[in-house]
Amino acid sequence: MQEYDLGVIGAGPGGYTAALFAAAQGQKVVLFEKNLIGGVCLNKGCIPTKSILYSSEIYKKIQNCSEFGISTGEVTLDYSKVIERKNKTIEKLRKGIELALKNAKVQTVNSEAKIKSSTEILANNETYKVKQIICATGSTPKEIKGLEFDHKFILSSDDILNLEKLPKSILIIGSGAIGTEWARIFANFGTDTTVVEAAPHILPSADIEVSKRVERIFKTQKIKFYTQTSVEKIENKTVTLSNGETLEPEIILAAIGRTPNKVEKIEGVEYIGDVAGEIQLAHYAMKQAIQKTTNIPMRKDLIPSVVYGTPEIAWIGKREQDLEPNTYQKSLTLISSLGKAHCDSETEGFIKLLSQNGEIIGAHIVSAEASALITQILIAIQNNIPIEKLKEICFAHPTYSEGIFDSLFKFK
Ligand SMILES: Cc1cc2nc3c(=O)[nH]c(=O)nc-3n(C[C@H](O)[C@H](O)[C@H](O)COP(=O)(O)OP(=O)(O)OC[C@H]3O[C@@H](n4cnc5c(N)ncnc54)[C@H](O)[C@@H]3O)c2cc1C
Repeated sequence: MQEYDLGVIGAGPGGYTAALFAAAQGQKVVLFEKNLIGGVCLNKGCIPTKSILYSSEIYKKIQNCSEFGISTGEVTLDYSKVIERKNKTIEKLRKGIELALKNAKVQTVNSEAKIKSSTEILANNETYKVKQIICATGSTPKEIKGLEFDHKFILSSDDILNLEKLPKSILIIGSGAIGTEWARIFANFGTDTTVVEAAPHILPSADIEVSKRVERIFKTQKIKFYTQTSVEKIENKTVTLSNGETLEPEIILAAIGRTPNKVEKIEGVEYIGDVAGEIQLAHYAMKQAIQKTTNIPMRKDLIPSVVYGTPEIAWIGKREQDLEPNTYQKSLTLISSLGKAHCDSETEGFIKLLSQNGEIIGAHIVSAEASALITQILIAIQNNIPIEKLKEICFAHPTYSEGIFDSLFKFK
């Protein structure tokens, strides 16, 4: 029987991060993966969507480039090349992780693994004896009655990654991060895009003002949407909505969440990432992995959310709808007030900060580079840096981060 300090099941961001950090501490580690190294994030999630999104943004930008003094001939799109580039990006990154695991002397076993006890893992008919187990077996697209994936007309977020050609029209059910990013991708490529959301607003987990702004942006980007509306039935490729309207999209993407993969919970085993069914984000899975293997603490209430596309959307901390009126202060800076935004023609959006007792407690950003801006504020919140102290910092000009600086001075 082979013996290890740590056995990790699942090589997504949670699993491979745990394996690498434990190995860096001198532990003997074995990592089991039944499919591809990188998990959902690399193979079916974060990376492929952002690669396709980037292609779609370039396609759209080129069509509007005369504003920047650039003229082109006819702009054509070869969607198979978009997918080819996406696949190459994934492979390149996967090779990087595989090499890092090899260099760290993590033993990887390409097999399904089963937890026998808190110190034994069964894989390939072999038992691996380990001192500790981290289970990071992830999640799969949620399927509900009446909206079962047939993988041809009703697609999951896995199916949609490998379309051979762009549809003329699509109905996206759900406007969380996945639904919103795909709506942006298809709209950029010129597909007739409609989003149906059961909650009162698009991006229901965002601050209310962000949701409303995204709805406004959807309108300018010609993304049709219904809120407080659900799908009643789907028959012969006709979709009947709860408001009585019918739609006949070429395909449907059902993006209504993800279900943690089934695992038997065994005492003494650590469950991290999507399988734990809490926050289903790659950076949360990675941070949990680091916490379990190094004891570096983390704040579970300060995990940033980002939605990619133009403009980016990012938030952290308290939302305005979570707070009692008159218990907080708010400052709002329009992105159109920033020089850099005009240089880039990216003037849509705002930076909204919420504060209590002289410290920032929430930040909600709709702006180019929002994914990077949010971390600046996160550092301030997590370290309880007072707004008066932040005012001492010199922000570079011209940048989008000047919007944060301006916002600080708007608090009374
Ligand atoms: C379309 C899409 C876009 C996304 N975009 C983002 C984003 O931009 N940012 C972000 O933070 N998050 C994003 N996510 C979420 C992110 O992908 C997940 O939160 C993340 O992958 C979870 O990591 P994990 O390690 O918990 O599990 P996973 O990445 O799901 O990996 C689990 C691994 O375990 C393996 N496995 C399962 N059971 C076994 C077993 N019994 N034996 C061996 N191996 C097993 C699986 O094959 C898989 O490789 C996105 C998700 C989707 C679907």
